[in-house]
Amino acid sequence: MRLDRFICKHTAHSHQTSRRLVASGHAEVDGCIITDPRHAVTAFSTIRLDGQLLQQQQPHYIMLHKPAGYLSATSDPEHKTVLELLPSTLRPKLHIAGRLDRATTGLLILTNDGLWSRRITAPEEKIPKIYLVTTAEPISPDAEARFQQGIWLAREGVMTSPATIERLSEHCCRLTIFEGRHHQVKRMFAAIGNAVTALHRERMGPITLDEQLRPGEFRLLTDSERTAI
Ligand code: URA
Repeated sequence: MRLDRFICKHTAHSHQTSRRLVASGHAEVDGCIITDPRHAVTAFSTIRLDGQLLQQQQPHYIMLHKPAGYLSATSDPEHKTVLELLPSTLRPKLHIAGRLDRATTGLLILTNDGLWSRRITAPEEKIPKIYLVTTAEPISPDAEARFQQGIWLAREGVMTSPATIERLSEHCCRLTIFEGRHHQVKRMFAAIGNAVTALHRERMGPITLDEQLRPGEFRLLTDSERTAI
C-alpha cells in the first residue's frame, strides 16, 4: 500500500492532507523520513506520523509439529486448537498456512504474513506437500497411474495436479501433492477405493519438519527456510 493511503486509512486526515503531510516531511518509515507519498509500505513497516506510532508489527514464521487431536484453527469452543500449543505472546494475528485435519500429525506452518503464506498455499504456486500415508487396504497396483492422471475433485470441479507415490510397504506410501484442498489426501485415496488410517505431513516445498521437534513442540523458521519460499 502507498504511504499516503496508509496514513489516510489510519488517521482522520483526508487523502489530500495525508499526501501533503508526507511530502512536507512529517512521515517516517522504519526510522527514515519519507517524502514520496507513493512510497510502498507493508504490514511490517514501522510507520510514524509526527513521531506518533501508527503501526509496528513483527512478522512471525513458526514451524509446529502438530500432534493428533488438535484442530487447525485459531479458536474453537469445543476442541483444543494448535494455537494453544504456542505462547500467548506469539498468538495474536497468526494464521495457518495449510491446515491439517484433527487426526493428522506433522508439519504445520503458522505466520502473520499473509503475502508470504499465500506463496505456500495458493494452488497455482504448485508447492509440493509431502505426506506419509497409511491405508486400510493394500495400495492398489494402479495407484501411481491414477494419481499421475489426476483425481477429479467434484466439490471444487477441478482435477488434482499429477501426484506421485513412493511405496514404503503394502499399506504405506509417501505421497507428493501440489495443492492443499480440504481432505485432499483422503479424497484421493477414497477415489481409488481405499481409506487413509494415518496421515503425517513431512514437508512443504523447501521446509521439512525438524526431526528435533517432538509432537506439540515448535520453533521459529530460520531465515533460509523463510526466504526459500
Ligand atoms: N489431506 C487430508 O485428507 N488431510 C489432511 O490433514 C491433509 C491433507
